[in-house]
Amino acid sequence: MRVGHGFDAHRLVEGRPFVLGGVRIPFERGPLGHSDGDALAHALADAILGACALGDLGVHFPDTDPRWKDADSLELLAACAELARGAGYAIGNVDVTVVVQAPRLAPHLAAIRARLAETLRIDPANVSVKAKSSEGMGYTGDGTGIAAYAVALLERSNGA
Ligand code: MG
Repeated sequence: MRVGHGFDAHRLVEGRPFVLGGVRIPFERGPLGHSDGDALAHALADAILGACALGDLGVHFPDTDPRWKDADSLELLAACAELARGAGYAIGNVDVTVVVQAPRLAPHLAAIRARLAETLRIDPANVSVKAKSSEGMGYTGDGTGIAAYAVALLERSNGA
């Protein structure tokens, strides 16, 4: 078994859709980024790559590459899962914590889990997504940004 950890953060700005875990959530601001800025998807992709010691998202999908401009980060996440499977690993379970003051994420967590499970091709029971505020402190608390932390457990797959 192998464990991987990922972190990501994005600035929240006006004029960008708020996309998290592949789910669009109505909000007046959204993450700035070369791709869609989906911090959850990026942290989770890094956790999966990290478990396989395959570098990070930026190595495989550089933000200097116009191909990934406004990319759907769930496509990048799916590609990272495929890299892990190609390296002989199956994704066991993943756990993600998103830190943002607003919008409230609780009503969207089930949809996010379903989207991630579908993207990773694992059971939703093996996908955990939690949301925290940081009680007004720091960049996640004052509305400046959003952060996500993820861990992923991968297992050597039989015969892979
Ligand atoms: Mg990112």
